Amino acid sequence: MIIWDDHFHVDPYKGIFLEAVRQFHRAGGTHLVVVYKTAHDYGFSGLRAEDFMNAMDFHIGLVEKINKETPVKAYAVVGVHPAEFVYLAEQKGLEYAKNEVMKALEYAQGLCMEGKAIAIGEIGRPHYEVSEEIWNASIELMKYGMSLAKEADCAVQLHTESFDEEKFRELGKYVREVGIKPYKVVKHFSPPLVKVAEEVGVFPSIIASKKNIKEAIEQGNRFMMETDYIDDKRRPGAVLGPKTVPKRTKAFLQNGLFTEEDVYKIHMENPRKVYEVEVEED
Ligand SMILES: [Zn+2]
Repeated sequence: MIIWDDHFHVDPYKGIFLEAVRQFHRAGGTHLVVVYKTAHDYGFSGLRAEDFMNAMDFHIGLVEKINKETPVKAYAVVGVHPAEFVYLAEQKGLEYAKNEVMKALEYAQGLCMEGKAIAIGEIGRPHYEVSEEIWNASIELMKYGMSLAKEADCAVQLHTESFDEEKFRELGKYVREVGIKPYKVVKHFSPPLVKVAEEVGVFPSIIASKKNIKEAIEQGNRFMMETDYIDDKRRPGAVLGPKTVPKRTKAFLQNGLFTEEDVYKIHMENPRKVYEVEVEED
């Protein structure tokens, strides 16, 4: 059985790195989307485009290590986290920050085109209050990232403030403006609004809590599941643990909330459509 976690971080400095991946595997997980954290997390200052690029290369190295040293198939997602842009804009000014982040996003696009990453992310806008200037610039950068993904025909993973129906519709508007295939726009940390997401075309990646997944499957199986595991020993329990997606999937299959077809769709067909990767059992 293929079990895919759509948003997972690893941190060789603050976390347990390969051990987290092995825990995922022992619980029944097979495929992992490993998302870039921040330049700062990887030991770079995050003050220039080159820092982000070096951090992305470092991230690709971590994913290669997972693929070499564990039975899990891992895919990289690279970009500039919206919080990194906010920080840089506050340190060095808006125009400078925008410029550096744009250069870095172009580098991320290159990594997707080389086949080293499957999506640009997580990009988007901050989940906390910022000035109107920074907010608008964040939206501009999010759209720029989407346009780069469109050009490379890869996906994007979006990080945003907490989402509701209205915000999905706002996002749908940006997607149409950019002209990217809507199913290649993944809303990470999505609430279980499967129907609304389907209407606007965006692909929801839903946090695998029991409540969320129960609400999601009642509306259909057009979604992916994620933990947003952050691999930080200082913040245990801040998000779901590495075993959650396989455990939840198996439990839902056992108690009849998922059919075999649901599992096949959520973990195999949906990722295959969004990321255009071959999803196969070893
Ligand atoms: Zn994340």
